[in-house]
Amino acid sequence: MEWKWTRKDNACTGCGICLDVCQEEAILMTREMGLPEALPGACTGCRECERECPFEAITVTICQNDKL
Ligand code: SF4
Ligand code: SF4
Repeated sequence: MEWKWTRKDNACTGCGICLDVCQEEAILMTREMGLPEALPGACTGCRECERECPFEAITVTICQNDKL
C-alpha cells in the first residue's frame, strides 16, 4: 500500500520531531532543505509523525492511485 505524506508549509517550523519519531527513517530534512520531506516508498503509514507533530503540519493518507 502506498502512502501520501503531506506537509503544510505554513504550519511546519522545521523542528525535526517528525524525523525523530519515524522508525522507518522515511523522513529526510537537511540544513539546505530546511523543512522535512518523505522519501518515496519508505513510509509505512503508521502516522506517528502526524500524531507527534506539535503544529499539526503533517497529513498521512492512503494513496488512491491504484490505476497504473
Ligand atoms: S514535527 Fe511538524 S513542525 Fe516539526 S519538522 Fe516535522 S512537520 Fe515540521
Ligand atoms: S507515517 Fe510513520 S512511517 Fe510514515 S513518515 Fe510518518 S512516522 Fe514515518
